[in-house]
Amino acid sequence: MQVPLLDLKAQYATIKDEVLAAVSEVLESQRCIGGPKVAELEEKIAAISDSRFAVGVSSGTDAILNSLMSLDIGVGDEVITTPFTFFATVGCIARAGARPVFVDIDPKTFNIDPALFESAITEKTKVIMPVHLFGQMSDMDPIMEIANKYNLAVIEDAAQSITSTYKGRKAGSIGTAGCFSFFPSKNLGGIGDGGMIVTNDEQLYERLFVMRNHGSKPKYYHKYIGGNFRLDAVQAAALLVKLPHLNEWSQGRRHNAAYYDKRFAGTVIKTPYINPDCVTIYNQYVIRVPRRDEVAAYLSEKNIGCAIYYPVPLHLQECFSYLGYKEGDFPESEKAAKEVLAIPVYPELTDEQLQYVASKIEEFVR
Ligand SMILES: *Cc1c(COP(=O)(O)O)cnc(C)c1O
Repeated sequence: MQVPLLDLKAQYATIKDEVLAAVSEVLESQRCIGGPKVAELEEKIAAISDSRFAVGVSSGTDAILNSLMSLDIGVGDEVITTPFTFFATVGCIARAGARPVFVDIDPKTFNIDPALFESAITEKTKVIMPVHLFGQMSDMDPIMEIANKYNLAVIEDAAQSITSTYKGRKAGSIGTAGCFSFFPSKNLGGIGDGGMIVTNDEQLYERLFVMRNHGSKPKYYHKYIGGNFRLDAVQAAALLVKLPHLNEWSQGRRHNAAYYDKRFAGTVIKTPYINPDCVTIYNQYVIRVPRRDEVAAYLSEKNIGCAIYYPVPLHLQECFSYLGYKEGDFPESEKAAKEVLAIPVYPELTDEQLQYVASKIEEFVR
């Protein structure tokens, strides 16, 4: 049996005709950038995210970069975030000219530990950037409390968590801005790169909107230095076809996760901890196992896809050596990097595939 980590062909097969028709409509119109599809998608993503405004952008990375630039974050500023995330979170902070400041994670959720970061705040701190990793939101109440106390902006990196909730509140809607990615492997994935920023702040919305097109307003007059952060119309068209399925796909992922949870209970396999305040969308189902690399090799041998998100915490990446961090600075992030393993959880998995994955893992760790 073959079980990939993610099977986008299986998903595509269920919506192929609609996607082709929607893409064809854009091609016939030859309005390839921006336009009505992008506006419609923005409206719908704002609505499902309980946010007033949304700005479609070229990627999740550019959603983060545009948010930082639109908040005038740059040289001399510090942004607090987690070292246990995808590179883009921290790459954008550095590209904006600011200094990334790391705080360790809560080992249960893999998200930034709010109990730790008040001591990381200095007079240069401008932003806190929690990352809602693997589909589960960060513990937002204490984050917002500290942010408000020190008058800091909060940018939610919700690239992996569109529509997930914390105390009934949607990802992206709690902070100053929320950033989504439509990279194909995200829960709502396009047919290429794409992203979106949501916010309830009208002034910020206007700035984000202008910044995505070189800061131009009116055309050829530049009060700000923006970028080309625009979203393609074909992406919006494909995403509009997929959007009505998002909840049922997330439900399918939760169903598969529940199967593993039950099956692995009482074994040495540590299943994901979900905060009772949260509803996760399981962008990844991440277990901790002893002899992780051997388990991963064994699964590959058995034609089961798996992946390590993420093998090297950001404070130990070569490009960030100038920040002066060293091994041992963030022990929980470093430990997680050695133990985590993402296994297939995508909604189209069959019962046979689920059972096969679970039994192969059990077989190895027994
Ligand atoms: C995917 C991802 C991004 C970047 O999104 P892209 O669309 O790939 O640019 C940023 N942060 C996190 C946590 C991600 O998972």
